Amino acid sequence: MGFLKQVGDYAKESLQAAKYIGQGLSVTFDHMSRRPVTVQYPYEKLIPSERFRGRIHFEFDKCIACEVCVRVCPINLPVVDWEFDKATKKKDLKHYSIDFGVCIFCGNCVEYCPTNCLSMTEEYELAVYERHELNYDNVALGRLPYKVTQDPMVTPLRELAYLPKGVMGPHDLPVNARRAGQMPQEILEAAQKEAKAAEGEAQASEAKPKE
Ligand code: SF4
Ligand code: SF4
Repeated sequence: MGFLKQVGDYAKESLQAAKYIGQGLSVTFDHMSRRPVTVQYPYEKLIPSERFRGRIHFEFDKCIACEVCVRVCPINLPVVDWEFDKATKKKDLKHYSIDFGVCIFCGNCVEYCPTNCLSMTEEYELAVYERHELNYDNVALGRLPYKVTQDPMVTPLRELAYLPKGVMGPHDLPVNARRAGQMPQEILEAAQKEAKAAEGEAQASEAKPKE
């Protein structure tokens, strides 16, 4: 009797184990048919969306030291260092800095700057070993922004960033579903076509006899 019970229990446990293994594997097989959502960073990078709020770019020559950016900043972060020039009766900008270790990238300063000397770039790789290095002065802020699409060392991936119009979840999409937005190759082709058309127009206007 005891032996039969042991065999019955063993069979029950084996069935249970097989069920759990099946459940686990079903998740694995389900994921095998899904599109990957990870990229091989830093060899592959997603192209940030158009209104991405990355590192701020600053144009020193355009700044009038009005300090609007300081007043609209939730933490009064930008440091605008100026002196009053008696001869011209204008503020003379000496130094400008933003500490990206504190900035929350809200974009208020960019939005309200009256001379548009601030803009948000698509740069997001700001990691440093020393947090004080994140305090960018006007020289660092004036550096031209880095673009993923212009770096030959990385493969820019636009496809993963945008889902087809109206789709919220990426997992149930077929592997070859067409995403919204253009692939880098398509952007390049369109730009080349545009350049060719402009060149043709210029040649045609040159060839026209002058009246
Ligand atoms: S709002 Fe613009 S112009 Fe005014 S101080 Fe700030 S950066 Fe300069
Ligand atoms: S992005 Fe926002 S937090 Fe950062 S400096 Fe501008 S206003 Fe301040």
